Amino acid sequence: MPHREIPLSRPDITDSEVNLVVETLRSGRLSIGPMQERFEKQVAARTGCRHAVACSSGTAGLHMILRGLNIGPGDEVVTTPFSFIASSNCILFVGATPVFVDICPKSLNMDPRLIERAITPRTKAILAVEVFGNPTWMDAYAQIAAKHELPLIEDSCEALGTTYKGRQCGAFGRAGVFGFYPNKQITTGEGGMIVTDDQALADACRSMRSQGRGTAPPVPEGGRHDPSTVGAWLRHERLGYNYRMHEVSAAMGVGQMRRLDEIVRKRQRVANLYMTRLMASKPLILPSIDPETVMSWFVFVVRLAAGYTAEERNRIIAGLRNHDVGAGDYFPCIHLQPFYQREFGFRPGQFPIAESVSHRTIALPFHSNLTEREVDAVCQTLDVMISRENLQRA
Ligand SMILES: *Cc1c(COP(=O)(O)O)cnc(C)c1O
Repeated sequence: MPHREIPLSRPDITDSEVNLVVETLRSGRLSIGPMQERFEKQVAARTGCRHAVACSSGTAGLHMILRGLNIGPGDEVVTTPFSFIASSNCILFVGATPVFVDICPKSLNMDPRLIERAITPRTKAILAVEVFGNPTWMDAYAQIAAKHELPLIEDSCEALGTTYKGRQCGAFGRAGVFGFYPNKQITTGEGGMIVTDDQALADACRSMRSQGRGTAPPVPEGGRHDPSTVGAWLRHERLGYNYRMHEVSAAMGVGQMRRLDEIVRKRQRVANLYMTRLMASKPLILPSIDPETVMSWFVFVVRLAAGYTAEERNRIIAGLRNHDVGAGDYFPCIHLQPFYQREFGFRPGQFPIAESVSHRTIALPFHSNLTEREVDAVCQTLDVMISRENLQRA
């Protein structure tokens, strides 16, 4: 058993990020500055997208994309019930209706056949998520979207650095979004980034993130004495928000992006350790990764075999936590969240595969600096907790 807590996740920050943050603090430029621009260029280059728009969170990025695509009341967006809640909430932010479709039990992403059946004349977009960073079916979703002349919105908040069939996640749809919360592959504390090839959409998002200002580069107070820019700062072209990323976050992002390949390699190493160690465990279903995928690994989520109940799973998670091993139940189904059931009348049984999967998942501690000894300790503790449940049944 471990003697020290093994956290569910932990950011990988080095002196390189610390130095960039200190440099930024000393520069006196704390918003709308050179770090944001550098960070945007790095993410655009990495994904091969023409535009990258930094913002305050992945959720903010999703919200702006939906607004930018003019999705609103009366419109439907086809999406997955098996995700972090933000991928569906952004549809509610604009007054549109999420139309859920069930998932495929291997990839845990939407079943493409069900998407086609869910499309109606009111459908305005398909919003797909690479859940747990797994990109399987993204090309199929893009094809369905093209066939029906709908935009594909790619919530890649869990998939930065992953490639599928040689293509970068974030670049499959009309627009993609990354999130930089501390448990993601790279972090800026809080933050997000939109990527797209669509100039008009990028312009709209840049405007919305800064109170709907015009797309001419805004001149903050204390800017140059150019008469043509006077008035630009307080001219608002559309309804906007304050969804800006601050320069300290962007500085972290610049340092993290420089190290993305290194971080991905470290995460692959940890995922391989888990795979090797758990391969022979009969009660567990391991992540199923398509051979054409190179994963950057957001989390490591295993699933108890069919037949285990949610109560048993919850006791196993509680047991892990009691033994100082972080564990999580990623993800409870969105349609069964109290708010969704109450407001929209969703009920258990509507998306049976997503529900059955969500009752049996266990997210294990996962970050780039997890050691082999820690992985061993986690797996041993997991074995013990599962055996304890099996004994109770017998
Ligand atoms: C992390 C995440 C987001 C965005 O989260 P923020 O905390 O707003 O940055 C959106 N969708 C999914 C699927 C996520 O995992």
